[in-house]
Amino acid sequence: MTITPLMPVYPRSPVRPVRGEGVYLFGEKGEKYLDFASGIAVNLLGHGHPVLTKAIQEQAATLIHVSNLYGSPQGEALAKRLVDMTFADTVFFTNSGAEAVEASIKTARRYHHHHGRPEKHTLITFSNAFHGRTMATISATDQAKLRDGFAPLLPGFAVVEFDNLEAARKAVTEHTAGFLVEPIQGEGGIRPASQEFMRGLRELCDEHDLMLVLDEVQCGLARTGKFFAYEHYGIEPDILASAKGIGGGFPLGACLATEKAAAGMVVGTHGSTYGGNPLAMAAGEAVLDVVANDEFLEHVRLMGDRLRGALEQMIPNHDHLFESVRGIGLMLGIRMKTDSRAFVGYLREHGILTVAAGDNVLRVLPPLVIEESHVTEFVERLSEAARRYELPQQAA
Ligand SMILES: *Cc1c(COP(=O)(O)O)cnc(C)c1O
Repeated sequence: MTITPLMPVYPRSPVRPVRGEGVYLFGEKGEKYLDFASGIAVNLLGHGHPVLTKAIQEQAATLIHVSNLYGSPQGEALAKRLVDMTFADTVFFTNSGAEAVEASIKTARRYHHHHGRPEKHTLITFSNAFHGRTMATISATDQAKLRDGFAPLLPGFAVVEFDNLEAARKAVTEHTAGFLVEPIQGEGGIRPASQEFMRGLRELCDEHDLMLVLDEVQCGLARTGKFFAYEHYGIEPDILASAKGIGGGFPLGACLATEKAAAGMVVGTHGSTYGGNPLAMAAGEAVLDVVANDEFLEHVRLMGDRLRGALEQMIPNHDHLFESVRGIGLMLGIRMKTDSRAFVGYLREHGILTVAAGDNVLRVLPPLVIEESHVTEFVERLSEAARRYELPQQAA
């Protein structure tokens, strides 16, 4: 037998973390890493944050899980906080991002079904999108690497070019249920949609009574310096999928919706055994306790400006490697002139964790609790690594 006990679907790196402390991770032999990947935009509070740790410890000792057969004071409390802070009137809790997107897709379809228009079932989605790895969420993207070998995929998705409002407008038919879009593409390479595009989609939805469904699994929850990224665009969605940062590392996702959009989601239409369990709710509350206030969001914006500024200053010194910086807040990407995946591997060997993304982008996704000293350390070490890095093709 050659297959490994862990199903070999990931190209796992030699980094084997066993402990975390703030912005640092430690490997099995005590190796220290500066973590500017945050478990792929998840660990907003870094590692071992006392507020999150205490909340989980106390809740674990009190009540972990009971199912959704019973009333949920914990779920009601967290849902109320999310409703108070956002466009939404109601929340469905999930355990992951893909499940939050699934719930969002179902809510959008069910809206039209509820109003006697079951033929309006198709969501218009966008090139290079990433919405997760379930059958519906891989059907919602045009990325071959996510879809290959899993046919037949689900019908009901039409993919058009990202950030192209005209293409989106032309794709609307009598079967359209709405749009599903990441305001800032994450896996696709830290690509923020333009103001015109996002506002245009909102107008199209208003005009044709369509659902604007935002996938803010990666860009949401304080990462861009706003609570959710839609706030940068001066619009509000009908439905929004959140996950990643919302649990600070504890598996938690949420589908947020307006009362209008959730019209079809009545008793019996959806469910989850674990979704909204008391332990996950405690983690979600702890994350909000830290991030859901103006001072914290201001800190994210300030650190984002510092980091971006420092990166922009560094780039001309290594212009054989780096092209430009893009993104918002602490969701940043450096477009590279060489294979970003190989360079991310090189940084890893030198104790710096980042994440590769599509379009040759190196993603910089630090915990939101970083301080100036971490920004300085990161940029100095990145610059030093760039100076030493030999392009793979030159090495031959
Ligand atoms: C990570 C991600 C998902 C999927 O989340 P999982 O928790 O891995 O299921 C969906 N959408 C976006 C934009 C993501 O970044």
